[in-house]
Amino acid sequence: MSKRELLDAITAEVIICPKCPLCKSRKNAVPGDGSPNARIMFIGEAPGYHENIEGKPFVGDAGKFLDALLTEVPLSRKKVFITNIVKCRPPRNRMPRPLEIRACTPYLDRQISAIQPKFIVSLGSISASHISSRAGVPFDSITKVHGKFREASVLGLNVTLFPTFHPAAALHNPKYKQHIVNDFKRLKQKLQKERMIKRQSS
Ligand code: URA
Ligand code: SF4
Repeated sequence: MSKRELLDAITAEVIICPKCPLCKSRKNAVPGDGSPNARIMFIGEAPGYHENIEGKPFVGDAGKFLDALLTEVPLSRKKVFITNIVKCRPPRNRMPRPLEIRACTPYLDRQISAIQPKFIVSLGSISASHISSRAGVPFDSITKVHGKFREASVLGLNVTLFPTFHPAAALHNPKYKQHIVNDFKRLKQKLQKERMIKRQSS
């Protein structure tokens, strides 16, 4: 099967998934969005209010901030892949529970295995903590590891992990906003060095 076929098969399962209690309150599951050939995956926490309505990741206020960060690199949403640790909205945007994360992350694992990204950017500590555990590397706190690149093996793939703060947290706290903006500058430099994006002539 091609990468697209693999991803389409996962999407088809996710949109009707009954595997955890979040299926009862969701309007739409949010499988993820972007290119099957993406070299960079962005992984958030869980769909929020707007994502639940639209069935697409990062379309609310946090998504608008993420769009601005991507434009600045520049990365096109169409060329990366954006998804979440859990695919259905937790009621009132509470944190996803361990049982929900356990039930849902096999979908994420399959998405990672299908896409085979070079970079995994974790947005927020729930994502960073889960990806670290998949990579078998210790996770202390997002405050300590954000903005640092780490070579790791995830599901048998060599990937570079890059955790940063969640864009929603940044919207509520200017300190986090500055951190996330700085982290994306470091991401931009790294992608330029790896020739994954062009250096702009200036
Ligand atoms: N926050 C997330 O973690 N994911 C989304 O898709 C939207 C907001
Ligand atoms: Fe299924 Fe994941 Fe939605 Fe739970 S959150 S119902 S496991 S798709």
